[in-house]
Amino acid sequence: MNNSSAPLIEVRNLVVEYASRGGAMRAVNDVSFTVLPGECIGFIGPNGAGKSTTMKVLLGFMFPKSGSVKLFNREPGATEARRRLGYLPEVTLYYPFMKAKELLFLYGGLQGMTRTQLKVRIPKLLEEVGLAGRGDTLLKNFSKGMQQRVGIAQAIIADPELLILDELSSGLDPVGRHDLRDVMLELKKAGRTIFFSSHELSEVETLCDRVIMINKGRVVLESPVAELMKPLNLFEIDFEQDGQPQTRSVSGAEKFNATLAEIISSGGRVIGTRTATRSLEDYFIEIIRGHEGSGR
Ligand code: ADP
Repeated sequence: MNNSSAPLIEVRNLVVEYASRGGAMRAVNDVSFTVLPGECIGFIGPNGAGKSTTMKVLLGFMFPKSGSVKLFNREPGATEARRRLGYLPEVTLYYPFMKAKELLFLYGGLQGMTRTQLKVRIPKLLEEVGLAGRGDTLLKNFSKGMQQRVGIAQAIIADPELLILDELSSGLDPVGRHDLRDVMLELKKAGRTIFFSSHELSEVETLCDRVIMINKGRVVLESPVAELMKPLNLFEIDFEQDGQPQTRSVSGAEKFNATLAEIISSGGRVIGTRTATRSLEDYFIEIIRGHEGSGR
């Protein structure tokens, strides 16, 4: 029997550099994390943080300068690791004159599936990703959002144990995002492990168990998603003090109660309270500033 709680992804002190004119450019700087079976991890951070680079190393497309990466306890790029993995790249470039169905036959075949299996699997898969009946459409006639759906179909075709998705909902409109979230939730329910990068707070909130935030190649925060959301959910209190309307924003139930008490005891009159959510981008900036301020 396999040890079922052994990490599916294990990254240790990863350092990755790109060659640049002025010397080496360090894109990932001493990153370590693990992903356990069944976990759904949001890999978040501003543009240029090093997310795609880390993912390319996980896939075996790039080699680290130092540190180690294991997938299924194997080297990235090992045939067995590839077989058990589905990947959605940040930019999906497919042959424009290929039909969606043909592309899926190609990728399914590369994953070791037979034509007979694929004949059953592909129509179901197209339906699942919201492309029912579009199998014969040429990829060049698909919008960016539809191409992203094909990309997701390609990633999950062989029902992999582990999914690595770079910019999951890129190019999708709100309906597309909603559909995709349902697909991901089904995969999660079925016990699949998902590691994805995203800019969408609501996506991170609904799908993830845990988030790993990076900035300038370093992990700046690793936390259960519920912890991440706490400071993001704000309470706004509208009140009147000395005849002047005012608003205060606080995060967390404790602070909310304390602030209400403070307003009332100092003679204010509470008019109403609201909840509001800050954007993930605002939160990145706050965490990153705090981190840089601490001198690391
Ligand atoms: P993210 O996915 O978080 O947006 P990336 O991993 O794409 O970040 O990029 C990390 C850093 O590496 C950035 O500073 C980016 O400019 C640089 N970088 C990415 N790809 C290359 C490349 N092919 N050559 C040189 N520098 C690169």
